[in-house]
Amino acid sequence: MSEFSHENIMDVYDFIEPITKQNIMSNIHQYLPSSFVSNFKSHDELERELLNVDNLSQNHDKVYSSQNEKWFIETTTGTTGKPFAVVKTMRERMIEASYLLKCRKRVYEDVSLKNGFLLIHQLDPYLKSIDFRKNDENLQHVVKYMLETKPEWMFITAYLLKRLSNYLLINKPMDLSGLNLKFIENTSQHLLPEELETIEALFQTKIINNYGCREFWNIGYECKEAGHLHLNSDYLIVDVIDDEGKIIKEEGIVGDVVVTNLVNKTMPFIKYYLGDRAKIYNNCTCGIKTPYIVLEEGRKHEKLVNTKYYGNVVFRKVLRGLYFHNKYHELKRIKIIQDEPFHLSVYLDINGNSIEGFKEKFLWHCNETIGKDIQAFSIDFVYDYPFQESNSYKDQVFINKVI
Ligand SMILES: [Zn+2]
Repeated sequence: MSEFSHENIMDVYDFIEPITKQNIMSNIHQYLPSSFVSNFKSHDELERELLNVDNLSQNHDKVYSSQNEKWFIETTTGTTGKPFAVVKTMRERMIEASYLLKCRKRVYEDVSLKNGFLLIHQLDPYLKSIDFRKNDENLQHVVKYMLETKPEWMFITAYLLKRLSNYLLINKPMDLSGLNLKFIENTSQHLLPEELETIEALFQTKIINNYGCREFWNIGYECKEAGHLHLNSDYLIVDVIDDEGKIIKEEGIVGDVVVTNLVNKTMPFIKYYLGDRAKIYNNCTCGIKTPYIVLEEGRKHEKLVNTKYYGNVVFRKVLRGLYFHNKYHELKRIKIIQDEPFHLSVYLDINGNSIEGFKEKFLWHCNETIGKDIQAFSIDFVYDYPFQESNSYKDQVFINKVI
């Protein structure tokens, strides 16, 4: 990647093939600068350090330093649930952080990290010390602390926001009238209209969506006037592509989202396939000049029929558990097919071998994710992977053949 230059990327942009996490991970040494790669004796050692999740901070990142350089390794998972590492310098993180601040200022001018209540990427030592991610009882300490410290805005994931709201609505009603939140920044998932209404009424404030990921902290940020996710055009190129991988130039046509980062030189992302489907529009009534993106809800064939869940979301969580906690790294590919209303076939590519205890662990994670709904299904495990992916960037982990 040494000859790579961001300046002339637009000359060739249209002709570059979209790239996936899997493409990057299998050639990871070529994606990183030699000053970083040279710290490792072999590609295996490099990969081990990148994917080692035992030494991560609460925020799923870690610092790697050598002599006089320092990098941040941020860990995430792909559409297949496998770990993926993003390497950035401090400067690159600062660019992302200051862009996010600029978006937040559009919503509320006096916003700062100091007056925020950050429930992700926490900075506050007290919030860092409470385990509220799993333990519902600790949510009341979070709310009490919020009432005491009177933050002006909150940063939270949709999952936690829903848990927090349910807790307050059902178990422990508390007087929230002392709060004066100017907005709640919600990330990682959209809320359903009825959830939005209930939560905004509960906290007496507006929810603003932040569409992003570890690779690019912000891809789209909602305007408060029209509720549209305006694209980060400061340093990203965001497009949608058709099934042949070609850029869709017309507005309002659904395609797969690809992102190019013009500032991240440590680990360049060019036409990077995210796995989301969306359409892009050019003009919003709010006055912000950048285009906005409308994300598609899950697709029909991604629904886990006979439950209220999307299989792609459920099994991504299940696989994340299997990779991160049970460390089934020998599993190369997996595909889960709902071939009958109450039957799933799980196809595994592990060189024809079966893995000790895999079945039990798989079921355990399914149970953790969707509860007793999974018990209605019979599941067969097939230790053979018969699929040829028609498009290498579309590695669907779950498909229902029922609808
Ligand atoms: Zn707008």
